Amino acid sequence: MIIVMRHGAGKEALAEVKNRIREYGYKPHVIHGETRNVIGAIGDERGKSVLQALESLPGVESVVPILKPYKLASKEVKLQRTSVEIAPGVVVGGDQLIVMAGPCSVESQEQIIETAHAVKAAGATVLRGGAFKPRSSPYSFQGMEEEGLKLLALAREETGLPIVTEVVNPRDVDLVAKYADVMQVGARNVQNFALLKMLGKIDKPVLLKRGMATTIQEFLMSAEYILSEGNQRVMLCERGIRTFETATRNTLDISAIPVLREQTHLPIIIDPSHATGHASLVPSMCYASVAAGCDGLIVEVHPHPEVAASDGPQSLRPEVFTEMMAKLAEFAAVVGKTL
Ligand code: PEP
Ligand code: MN
Repeated sequence: MIIVMRHGAGKEALAEVKNRIREYGYKPHVIHGETRNVIGAIGDERGKSVLQALESLPGVESVVPILKPYKLASKEVKLQRTSVEIAPGVVVGGDQLIVMAGPCSVESQEQIIETAHAVKAAGATVLRGGAFKPRSSPYSFQGMEEEGLKLLALAREETGLPIVTEVVNPRDVDLVAKYADVMQVGARNVQNFALLKMLGKIDKPVLLKRGMATTIQEFLMSAEYILSEGNQRVMLCERGIRTFETATRNTLDISAIPVLREQTHLPIIIDPSHATGHASLVPSMCYASVAAGCDGLIVEVHPHPEVAASDGPQSLRPEVFTEMMAKLAEFAAVVGKTL
């Protein structure tokens, strides 16, 4: 339920409504608007009709049901788009198009430092790199784990770029949070509810990837798991879904961008690397995604893709990434964003 407060309702009225919501066994979630406040009452769907009685309280204008199964992620609760600050001055969902770039996996000090400098020089604002890798085969490289996290931290120290890296296992949340600026949830973990709940309790932004067979509603329900635990800094990432097509690794669902913009206030990031699987297809998908209204991109870049430990074929060489960034600035300008 959403409790819409009257224009000018005071603090006492707001506090009273919040108390009553708690008494009914729901969690109040206040959204401060420019002209009025609204309070989401979040909790068990059964029995929510008791909340209707709040309409009689002073300062309350109306009590309306939230129709979507996801609440905090929905535009019914918050119309204004959310921006997420991931480091001082690095804001996703504002006027700047945020580009996160780096290798699929951290492989060595030399590799991550070289890549970090290259992507920074090209205009990227966040460094990506996997230290824990969710590989389809148990025989594939699984990542450098904590050693990789330390190398990412070193790259941040050298370049000033904040880092985004994946947490695969709930037991590693604290460890990854010690080093990362943004916690990435991979496509394969989009419905790992234990992991999502833990990420909802920490004070770090989360980049939540859509699964290869996840509907948009399921995707938003996963975001809701994080939001409902208290962490409001959630970014959604479309990274391609599985279709019958084999020419690309996955199929980039570009239409997910306008659909998500209609349904949620959360920022939207596009990953054209995992979506296409081929470096040659990445630039055009970046341009198309910006045109469709994404807030940022996450792109795999490797100084020597031919020897990459993972995802070499889809990784851009730094020179190609640099060229792409120059062209991307033009597309960004068309949609009123800077790069
Ligand atoms: C990755 O970012 O390297 C990755 C494993 O992505 P996804 O979870 O989208 O497959
Ligand atoms: Mn990868």
